[in-house]
This record gives sequence, structure tokens and C-alpha cells, in this order.
Amino acid sequence: MMKNVKPATLAAHAGGAVDASSGGVVPPIQPATTFLRDADYELLNADNVYQRPHSDTVRTAEEVIRALEGAFESLLFPSGMAAIAAAFRWVPSGGHVIVQSRIYWGTTKWIRAFCERRNIELSELDASDMPTVAEHTNKADLIFIETPSNPWLKTVDILAVSEQAKAIGAVLVVDATAATPVLMKPLTLGADIVMHSATKALNGHSDVLGGALSCAADSPVWEAIKTDRADAGAVMGPFEAWLLLRGMRTLPLRVERMSTNAMKIAEYLHDHPAVEDVFYPGLASHAGHGVAQRQMVGGYGGLLSVLIKGDKQNALKVAGRLNLFLRATSLGGVESLVEHRFTVESHTGLPENLLRLSIGIEDVNDLIEDLGQALGQ
Ligand SMILES: *Cc1c(COP(=O)(O)O)cnc(C)c1O
Repeated sequence: MMKNVKPATLAAHAGGAVDASSGGVVPPIQPATTFLRDADYELLNADNVYQRPHSDTVRTAEEVIRALEGAFESLLFPSGMAAIAAAFRWVPSGGHVIVQSRIYWGTTKWIRAFCERRNIELSELDASDMPTVAEHTNKADLIFIETPSNPWLKTVDILAVSEQAKAIGAVLVVDATAATPVLMKPLTLGADIVMHSATKALNGHSDVLGGALSCAADSPVWEAIKTDRADAGAVMGPFEAWLLLRGMRTLPLRVERMSTNAMKIAEYLHDHPAVEDVFYPGLASHAGHGVAQRQMVGGYGGLLSVLIKGDKQNALKVAGRLNLFLRATSLGGVESLVEHRFTVESHTGLPENLLRLSIGIEDVNDLIEDLGQALGQ
């Protein structure tokens, strides 16, 4: 692989991975759980002893993510939540973590239980308080932010938070799932670790569960995360890694289309009489638009939320009338999805008339037509 190629080239070539032994233009899946030694008891391949810590197929997928992030190293996990858990598990009992409020509900739920069990102090702060977090506390082990956030689409200034994190000696972890490494590179904005649910746009085809952590530099915390993955065994299998690798070949292309589609749909919904509000960082009316413009390049992603005028029934009626948008949770796939979050998350203060849309790569006019008939234009 040539050095310094652009992301679309790197992804299309899977970082240059081919199969040297067969001459195949795609890398093989190596499913072996254990690896040979010769008669002198030397390993045939010094990198491979046992699959839990050693899988060439997983390493190949990790190398693509590492290169896209501009990271020192990347690690894959069997889900996004396994990656988040790994990013927190090194925090000592009696420690202190600061977590952005109103982020992905699964993250909040796990962190609250984890901190209680481990006697770790947990501060949950609104996205708008994150850039001045050092005024709220003078010591923390870890700061966790999610930008753009799911499903509120709040934008957090990563560079500003990273300066605060350094001032109080905290490791900054950024969940950048909704942005993807194509649109935003938190490690270049001062984050220590960037996290993705690879289940979403990284894989992009709604058929692999996975998570990724990437670090800006080696550190004792990163080494602890690596050791914990190998020893506790939260690893991705080779088949999933291979599918992810194939999915990522089109990542920049898919993200570009999702972003332009989502921008047009956000503008359409913004002007629609049946719509109360639209949350999308690409809209000039969005509170975080300026920050998003500074830290995202090439678009604002495929995730947006919309408040339907009226109550829960009005929102459910719109969701029910959609023909093209599939009614299902998750995001980042090639097919557009709609979700009434309140149905699954009614206790967290989410508006009951909110619909979350994950915009896919379909023809945008088909999507707008479907939305138009569902909203009753
Ligand atoms: C889906 C998601 C996760 C969790 O990832 P899984 O792969 O489902 O475990 C974490 N953060 C965000 C922003 C997500 O959308």
C-alpha cells in the first residue's frame, strides 16, 4: 500500500491487505484458534500462539481503523458496549469519572451500574458544561463524551474538553460513532481514546456487531485496556472481523452519501408544517452548528432526530405510515431506519414526539417522498 493515500483509497484497498499465499486480491479468513510449533518447539509464526489475543484477520481490520483514525493503535471488541466497558474498567475503586448526560442510553445505564458497584464517583454533566468541566471539578480519572450525541445530536467541542481533561489529569474518551472517522478525527483534536460502535456505519450493513477503541499514544491506561481484552477475552471473532473489513471498503463512499442525503432531509423537515423541530448539526439553526463545522469535515453524518407536531400518537402515526424507512433501532446502515425512542426509553426525559432517523444511501428523492406522504403534506 502506498503511504499517505486518502481515506477512500485506503478503505477501498482494505489498507493493502491481500492473500500472499494464494495470490487472492482479498485477505483470507483465518479461523484457527491455535497455532503450530515445529519439532524444535519454535512457533511457525512468532505472532500467533492462540486466537484470543492473536488473530491475523482481526489485526487486518484493526489496521484499517488505525490508519483512518490516525491512531497509534486500534483494538476491536465484540460490541460497542464491550469497547466502552473496556475503556472504563481500568478506573480504580474510589476513582471519579465525568460522563456527558443524555447520550446513548445503553452507555449511561452500564456506567451508572458499574460506578455504583465499584464505588466510583460519577458526575453526569450536560454537553454544554463539558467545555468548562474543570470549573466543576479539579480531579477525575476519565471524561467520556459522545459527539454528535444519540439521539439529541448535541455537539461537544472536543478540543476545548481535551484542554480541560489535561488540566485535571483525566483521560478523555470520545464516542464518535455518529460521526465516523471519515468526518471527524477526535485524536487530532486532543482526545486520548476514540470509540466507535462498529455495528453502525463502520460496518454499515446491519449484519455485524462490533466495537473499536483507538489511542493517540501508548500509555499505562492503554496497556491496561489491551491486557484486559486479552485476559478477560472480550475479543471479536475472525468471521466478524472479515465482514467488517469488507464493509469498511465502502465506508467513505457510504458516509458521503448518507451525509448529503441527511442534510437534504434535515432541510426538508425543517421547513415542513407538521414538524416542530429538527436536530441535525448540519443545520445553521442547530445550537452546535459552529462547533460541528470546526471539528467535522465533509458532512455531518446520517443521524438526525425530528419532533413531530402533536403528541406521542402523532409521532407513532408518522412512523407507522412510512414505507421505505424500516421501523427498527440502530443506525449507520445502508438502509434508512426510523425509531420512536420514547417507546423503549420513556423514563429518561426524551420527548414523546421524537422520531430518530438513520439516513441510508438510497435515492434521497424516494426518502423525501416517503416522509412527505407519512407527514401528510
Ligand atoms: C450503538 C451505540 C453504542 C453501542 O454499540 P453496540 O455495538 O450496540 O454495543 C454506543 N454508542 C453509540 C453512540 C451507539 O449508537
